[in-house]
Order: sequence, then C-alpha cells, then structure tokens
Amino acid sequence: MLVTELKPQDEILEGLADDSSVFLLGCDGCASACETGGAENLPALAEMLQQAGKELTGQTAVDYLCNKSLIRSYLRPYEAQIMDADSVLVATCGVGVQCVADSVLKRVRTACNTVNMGGVSGVQMSGERCAECGDCLLSQTGGICPITACSKSMVNGPCGGTSSDGKCEVDNKRDCGWYRIYQRLKELDALDQMKVIIPPKRHGLFLPTYETMTGEFWAVEGRPEGEA
Ligand code: SF4
Ligand code: SF4
Repeated sequence: MLVTELKPQDEILEGLADDSSVFLLGCDGCASACETGGAENLPALAEMLQQAGKELTGQTAVDYLCNKSLIRSYLRPYEAQIMDADSVLVATCGVGVQCVADSVLKRVRTACNTVNMGGVSGVQMSGERCAECGDCLLSQTGGICPITACSKSMVNGPCGGTSSDGKCEVDNKRDCGWYRIYQRLKELDALDQMKVIIPPKRHGLFLPTYETMTGEFWAVEGRPEGEA
C-alpha cells in the first residue's frame, strides 16, 4: 500500500491557482484506506473547492487509479465533465496521479502527499514510480514525477546533459525526465509552469530517520550489536 496524507488546504489551492473549474477524482484503493481520497472523503474536498470559488464540473472515485489499463474505461462516462474542467484534482498516491496524467489530456493536480512509512510498498500495477518523498510536486510538473523520472531527481529543470534527441546523460536508453515534463507541459499549453521555482526538497521526509528506526523499530534487547 502507498500511504497518503492530504496536503494542507492552501497547498492544494496553490496547485489550482490557474484553474477556475475542477473535476475531482478519488481512488477507492489505498487512498480510501488512508482516508484521503476514497468516495467518502470527496464531499469534504468538494466543499473546500466550492468555498474557494472553484466550479466543480463533476466528481467520482474509482478503484485503484494505479491500474492504468483501466483508467480510460473508468473515466469514459465522465469525459464531458473532465473536458469542461480546467484541471483534474486527484486525491491519491503519486503513482495514481501519474497514471491519470498519462491517460487524459488535461492538467492534473494532486491533493495528496505520498509518505514513506518504511518497509514494503506492495505491488504497483503500472510503470509509474513514486519515491514517497512526502511533498508531492506533480501539480507543478505536468503529472510526471521529477524525483523518479530524472536520474538525478532534479526539481527545477534539466541538468544540462540531455541529448539532442531527449535522452538522459546517465542512461542514454532512458528518456530525460525533464524532456518529458517539458513536452507534457507544452502539450497542455502550460509551459509557464517551467518558470516556477520549486524549493529544495526536504530530504528528511523521504525515509524514517535512523533515530526512528533504532528507537521504535528495534526492541531494546534485540538491537544489533553496537546500535544505539
Ligand atoms: S513528487 Fe514524485 S516521489 Fe514525491 S510524492 Fe509525488 S510522485 Fe511521489
Ligand atoms: S539528462 Fe535529464 S533525466 Fe538525465 S539526469 Fe539530466 S535532467 Fe535528469
């Protein structure tokens, strides 16, 4: 399971700053278990959006947005409502948000942060990856994760090593993540987003601190020799 937390309301609205109308999309998989994006969590989000003056063109929660092969059929009944909106606000994990962004030609924003609780995250049903960074950037990057799509996890544009055919200098069989982000933003007529400076990542959010692992994970008597 990928664990999510709702972003603070002002961050959600900051991600929607350019959008006056929104389609709200939740996930009845892990996000429902986390009480962030299941069907039962959408009314509160919808109310928050409407109080902020956003027009809500529609809303739904579907099973497992990380299952990209099913997203288009899930969303087909909502096509008109999605196309009427300036963006789709997705309340689920980083993988689910990326899958939606790759499936609909619409700006996609995220309502959640995917957090790392340590341990195994479970099976992921698509090629999209989330490093569980705890401070999701997908609203700013066309729904492509710069942490996992870029070999160096750059957050403010390419490193300068991108080849002329858009490949990564670290692995020339791989598309440069920032080339992909640029192309996606161009397709969405949202290249202005490239000018927004993203603050440095708070790396302490990526993983539980060592202090937490030793203090809470290991039983006192069971700590390996030499561990504090
Ligand atoms: S920015 Fe990437 S790594 Fe961070 S939560 Fe979003 S999808 Fe996951
Ligand atoms: S070439 Fe692109 S994907 Fe590779 S490290 Fe540089 S910015 Fe990241």
